[in-house]
Amino acid sequence: ATVGVAVVGLGKLSLNQIIPGFRNCRSARLAAVVSGHPEKAHRIAEEQKLSPRSVYTYADYDRIASDPNIDVVYIVLPNFMHAEYTIRALKAGKHVLCEKPMATTIGDAERMIAAARTANRHLMIAYRCHYEPLNLAGMRLLRSGELGKTRVVSTVMGRQADPSDPSDAWRLDMMKSGGALTDMGIYGVNGARYLLNEEPTEIQAWSQTDKSDPRFRDVVDLYSWQARFPSGAIATGSTSFNYAATMSWEVQSENGKITADPGCFYSGNRLTLGGTKVATPEIREIDQFAREMDWIADVVRGKAPMVSTAEEGLQDMRLMMAIMESAAKGGASVATNYGFRRPVDP
Ligand code: NAD
Repeated sequence: ATVGVAVVGLGKLSLNQIIPGFRNCRSARLAAVVSGHPEKAHRIAEEQKLSPRSVYTYADYDRIASDPNIDVVYIVLPNFMHAEYTIRALKAGKHVLCEKPMATTIGDAERMIAAARTANRHLMIAYRCHYEPLNLAGMRLLRSGELGKTRVVSTVMGRQADPSDPSDAWRLDMMKSGGALTDMGIYGVNGARYLLNEEPTEIQAWSQTDKSDPRFRDVVDLYSWQARFPSGAIATGSTSFNYAATMSWEVQSENGKITADPGCFYSGNRLTLGGTKVATPEIREIDQFAREMDWIADVVRGKAPMVSTAEEGLQDMRLMMAIMESAAKGGASVATNYGFRRPVDP
């Protein structure tokens, strides 16, 4: 049997990627939608051949507890709402797939982890790149040792924010999101860790904000950071809501270089090997959202290991807070030994 997923929040990502993605799933199926806009929700339900009983509002959300059709709840709300809706779903006895960033505060992230423990349910963070073939190819190549020691990982993750787009309006609000760092920069922080397969011990960062740009009244525009890792590798990253859309990473190893540019888009990603072995390997493209939903479905059925854990989400939260703290102190070094160890590679 397939695993039923309720999608909470019918915004851009849900409508353009997640709901269409169920077509490409083999283990997960769309089981319900939760929205504050009943008309939109019923239209989507009809299109997706869901019964009207599978449409929930935020007010009757807790009723999902008695809906046996729903196994997993997928939280696709603005970041500041992740904690509340995750905890309510866990209390309703459901497993949760929660979008990145896990939350907007460390306290919220810790409460989410505690709620999953108490409920004895899975809580997975939707880090789609953990399941994406190009990023997996990069991880495998680095783990193989073929390129020798990794020296530097550089990540560039940003885009132009558009304040007239309601999807970006809350992203430019510090309390609701946290700006470019938590929206895009998180891919660089997370990426450096999964490429190196270790955790940073120290972070330094600078920020730069054009206060005459009305988009940046409340959030930092640009961060640049560097992190030291136990192996001796150094990772660097930049993130901004005021540069041309880029999601790329590059690895400099003793015997080679890997460039992923774009490396984390929904499609069209491209991997180039430089140094001694120059090539552009052909990588099969997949529906990243379908793969991720199938993954949690397989975790629930005991057929796959948990990869992008809630602890992984908390680790990125702590590291992003360390970047903010360092930048606020003009680049002071912040120790980041939080005791986290990554679980298995996917
Ligand atoms: P969005 O603004 O388009 O959608 C959010 C939805 O929440 C909207 O339908 C909105 O109506 C609803 N909502 C309910 N209460 C709200 C409130 N108080 N304020 C604002 N909106 C409210 O945003 P999105 O781009 O779909 O992003 C949703 C989540 O998905 C975010 O956490 C984001 O970080 C994440 N995301 C992840 C990826 C990825 O590649 N994994 C890509 C895009 C977005």
